[in-house]
Amino acid sequence: MAEKKREQEKIKKQEQKDCPYRKKCGGCEYLYLTYDGQCARKQKQVKDLIGKYGKIEPIQRMKDPYYYRNKVHAVVDRDRKGNPITGVYRKGTHVVVPVKNCRIENQKADEIIKTIQGMLKSFKIKIYDEDTQYGLLRHIVVRYGTKTGQIMVVLVTASPVFPSKNNFVKALRAVHPEITTIVQNINPRGTSMVLGTREQILFGKGYIEDVLCGKTFRISARSFYQVNSVQTEKLYCLALEFAGLTGKEVVLDAYCGIGTIGIIAASKAKKVIGVELNADAVKDAIENAKCNQEKNIVFYQGDAGEFMMNMAADGEKADVVFMDPPRSGSTEKFIKAVKEIAPKRVVYISCNPETLGRDLEWFVQNGYQMERAIPVDMFPWTEAIECVVLMSQVKN
Ligand code: SAH
Repeated sequence: MAEKKREQEKIKKQEQKDCPYRKKCGGCEYLYLTYDGQCARKQKQVKDLIGKYGKIEPIQRMKDPYYYRNKVHAVVDRDRKGNPITGVYRKGTHVVVPVKNCRIENQKADEIIKTIQGMLKSFKIKIYDEDTQYGLLRHIVVRYGTKTGQIMVVLVTASPVFPSKNNFVKALRAVHPEITTIVQNINPRGTSMVLGTREQILFGKGYIEDVLCGKTFRISARSFYQVNSVQTEKLYCLALEFAGLTGKEVVLDAYCGIGTIGIIAASKAKKVIGVELNADAVKDAIENAKCNQEKNIVFYQGDAGEFMMNMAADGEKADVVFMDPPRSGSTEKFIKAVKEIAPKRVVYISCNPETLGRDLEWFVQNGYQMERAIPVDMFPWTEAIECVVLMSQVKN
């Protein structure tokens, strides 16, 4: 009891602390709300958008809603005096706001970024200039394995030539022996994409691992991985509970990324089929299945809608469908194909309740009803909302 009170007091105190970057950054839209206020707002938004399909259960809150981002991206730039700075783009612009310590970013990652910033001058590393396209270092990305403690540093450079890189890596590791791998990513293009396609490992294995729901996942510099590991575990546990697997089911994991949901479900199902558009992610998914010794799972690369239509045309069936589409949601084509494949349950994980609402309407038209819906707060202080929804086939 006393501990719970202390915890609450700590949160209250932190909440009252203003963010020094509030006006300049723009990344956290809900800084003016308390955590209670944010959760209430998100609950209401979900209710307004999908409440007509059924009951919305209370949002799953984050116990300690700070420093949760396991992936931190910093832009490297110079101030007016020519000194190196690291920070974030002001929302909607390419103006760099220097950030030292952000309330939602992993603190160790912020520390490492500051160390690198401090080393740039003595190592005479040229900072890239977006306007002239001259210079070397563009971005720093740090990824942190919340369960394993493994840390990856990605140095994004405009060209492959990195003078004195061995000494730089040595000096960085001397300050931060906890770094487990360092990768140079080469991005010569003048686009707003942070990472390029070429990579060179400067130290370690070139990837980190993390553990979710007892399974190990390999995360490379470019793979998609949910940024809030604590809440992701809650989200996946709910998704699995909704699926109600008994070991006999054929399961589809659509929009599967690096295979997380399907791999977690595999030991409770007869067979899992994953489908994903991004070829790199599919490679990671296959590797992840192998390293978790899941043999009853296969992955296909392609558009999820096309894949489902082909399955439907071949008369194939599935018992449970997981779907976790991007912000744009799914498609009518996908949902019509689901009807043909006829799963008893569909578990929809959504990062955008607006497209979720549109898709639910299509599901209802195709013989499904919403059984359960729970928002999960994956992104405290920001307006982003994640939901997990269970739909079941309406029996005639
Ligand atoms: N389920 C995964 C990834 C979810 S993110 C996880 O929880 O980690 C959404 C994924 O959908 C991304 O990996 C993206 O590459 C993929 N995607 C986007 N459009 C797609 C399409 N039309 N067909 C299949 N996959 C798609």
